[in-house]
Amino acid sequence: MAGGWSRDGAVQEQIEDSIKDELSRMQARRRPSGESATHCAECEEPIPEKRRVAIPGVKLCIDCQQERDGAYQARGGINRRGSKDSQLK
Ligand SMILES: [Zn+2]
Repeated sequence: MAGGWSRDGAVQEQIEDSIKDELSRMQARRRPSGESATHCAECEEPIPEKRRVAIPGVKLCIDCQQERDGAYQARGGINRRGSKDSQLK
């Protein structure tokens, strides 16, 4: 039974290696097509060079990105309010 154990581990390693290969291939393919936008897709503000380098394939300026992130945070706020109500009961 101990032999079966090490064999499973070897198979797992092979799977992880093939996933890594696939990921690096996808990233290599994405890089040329996923170029960072020079201007925001939403408001057409110029995107700072630093941001374009830091986030390859970025399409939004900081303001529009934060607006999107804020939408997710608002949902969390509703959940928080809900839990506060349940605490009052
Ligand atoms: Zn924008």
